[in-house]
Amino acid sequence: RAKDAGGNRYELADPDSDARAIDRHSLTNHLPAALERDEFFLEYQPLIRMSDGRVDGAEALVRWEHPVHGRLGPDRFIPLAEHTGLIVPLGRWVLEQAVRQACDWAAGQPMRVNVNLSPRQLHHPDLVPDTIAVLEAAGVEPSSLCLEVTESALIGADEDELKPLWQLAEMGVDIALDDFGTGYSNLANLRRLPATTLKLDRSFTQGLQRHPADPVDVTFVEGIVSLAHALGLAVTVEGVETEHQAAQLRDLGCDTAQGWYYARPSSAAEFAQEWVEG
Ligand code: C2E
Ligand code: MG
Ligand code: MG
Ligand code: MG
Repeated sequence: RAKDAGGNRYELADPDSDARAIDRHSLTNHLPAALERDEFFLEYQPLIRMSDGRVDGAEALVRWEHPVHGRLGPDRFIPLAEHTGLIVPLGRWVLEQAVRQACDWAAGQPMRVNVNLSPRQLHHPDLVPDTIAVLEAAGVEPSSLCLEVTESALIGADEDELKPLWQLAEMGVDIALDDFGTGYSNLANLRRLPATTLKLDRSFTQGLQRHPADPVDVTFVEGIVSLAHALGLAVTVEGVETEHQAAQLRDLGCDTAQGWYYARPSSAAEFAQEWVEG
């Protein structure tokens, strides 16, 4: 039985949510040791240029090989790491791994690599010096790195707090606005950010899977693409799962695509085999 009390909702504890709570608690407690024991690893998913179907980079996605629970996706532990602050060292580890990997793949021209930034990293004073240090240590050009920032990370951030991103952008690091169209979308974010790319969330492209496509979704994608292009931004679409969707999104002017239709996230070795020429 749920009880309303001045906007607060109390729910009777059900065993499932109890188990989840304990699980969360124990996961949270194990995060620091997991980082020390090297239980995190990255998978890579190609970004595909829609004009010619060629690979145009890779997004690094973190996973946790948990000794008891097996492989956990980022949705299970990133929010916990964000809450405790462990996201800062974890995020630095991700950045370092991904940049080093991009360098290893570089046979001829370097592979661009996209790394997700959490709000806490964005607001940490070491973001700029850490990023510079990682790039220099690996000998990777700033233009081979794209940092993905979600709109929700920008909520409440004032101009000063966005300065590090502008500094990084000035150095040549690409900035992408991730999951665009979810949550509290605010077109003003496009002006406040030195973004070069807008990543249209999967929820927007789902309606295009249907035959015929949902006309409202088509109109939205069309409008967002034309706005983005008018502002000088490239558009990447997430969650492309079918050929039908891919063809439509290409016709609607999207520049880059990512999704299971092209490839699922995979290990660095598999990624190299499939997507790195040389
Ligand atoms: P995201 O940045 O929007 O990443 C795209 C997510 O969509 C990934 O989920 C990817 O596996 C999934 N995906 C890709 N193609 C398809 C598709 O065709 N269909 C469907 N249904 N899904 C697709 P994943 O790997 O579970 O990551 C979830 C989120 O966790 C990411 O969303 C990102 O926000 C966060 N994340 C991942 N790695 C990191 C990291 O190193 N640091 C931080 N701060 N966040 C991360
Ligand atoms: Mg992302
Ligand atoms: Mg995304
Ligand atoms: Mg997303």
